[in-house]
Amino acid sequence: MFAMLCRRYGAPLEWSEVPDPRPEPHQILIRVLACGVCRTDLHLVDGELPDAKLPVIPGHETVGTVIGKGEAVDRFRLGDRVGVPWLGWTCGACAFCTSGRENLCDSARFTGCHIDGGYAQLAVADERYCFPIAGEYSDAAAAPLLCAGLIGYRTLRLAGNGRRVGIYGFGAAAHIVAQVAVSEGREVYAFTRPGDSSAQAFARAMGAVWAGSSTDAPPVTLDAALIFAPAGPLVPAALRATDKGGTVVCGGIHMTDIPSFPYALLWEERMLRSVANLTRADARAFLALAPTVPVKTHTVEYPLAAANDALADLREGRLSGAAVLIPEREL
Ligand SMILES: [Zn+2]
Ligand SMILES: [Zn+2]
Repeated sequence: MFAMLCRRYGAPLEWSEVPDPRPEPHQILIRVLACGVCRTDLHLVDGELPDAKLPVIPGHETVGTVIGKGEAVDRFRLGDRVGVPWLGWTCGACAFCTSGRENLCDSARFTGCHIDGGYAQLAVADERYCFPIAGEYSDAAAAPLLCAGLIGYRTLRLAGNGRRVGIYGFGAAAHIVAQVAVSEGREVYAFTRPGDSSAQAFARAMGAVWAGSSTDAPPVTLDAALIFAPAGPLVPAALRATDKGGTVVCGGIHMTDIPSFPYALLWEERMLRSVANLTRADARAFLALAPTVPVKTHTVEYPLAAANDALADLREGRLSGAAVLIPEREL
């Protein structure tokens, strides 16, 4: 098969012919129909995820058809359409796994990082960490649900039930979580890179009641803030915009250093926390919720071989919504 391979950090992915993967007993073999491009993939190729295997096939928002399976597979049948998220394997035995926090498993393995992912024509995945994909969604439309959606959803849940929710960085995760928040009767305040009027217009189209620059103060005091942009200075900015008792949640896997800030920004019971990975319970809950909102994803499709273009567009903020790679599409 062909795949876009990360052979070394800081270099473009390489279109490479590699052996077809073979499923182990609990794995399904998937023909990839679509794979979303996530900001974590940028951190991977930049060498900011230090324990990734190399070479590695990135991609942890895979939608595909089951075309083969190991002897222990019993949840899926040949022909089923499945989604493969970031959480690829957990031990089931550590203190985190046994307390409902498998997202923090001591020896978790992540798709497109420790396990080859979906920037490929074929992939294998442990069926116990895969999910059926609702028929309402096309292959490309479903792909961003699998990380942007799941992590965004977990980020929103951990932010509590406050009505006025700020979102810093209006990309793939934000455009999904904004729809969920609005459906829950909340108000969304969107913060983008200064001067990014197209991202601000996109945020308003996704239901934000206000959109402005990350350097602006919102017109109201926020009850909670979600930070999806990987910029540490947004943390004190978000705390400053958030009311007493409010929560600021960092949703990304990597962020630049957070500048020092006065304790007064945290005082009065403001909370600052991060979100790491996802649990399968998050995935079941969000994938059941999405079609009822209904969450509509906005995607920009690229052929698989153009993955470097998709990553560059994501890095430069040239995308509205989510980039999705389509293996069957010609360059
Ligand atoms: Zn991701
Ligand atoms: Zn564990």
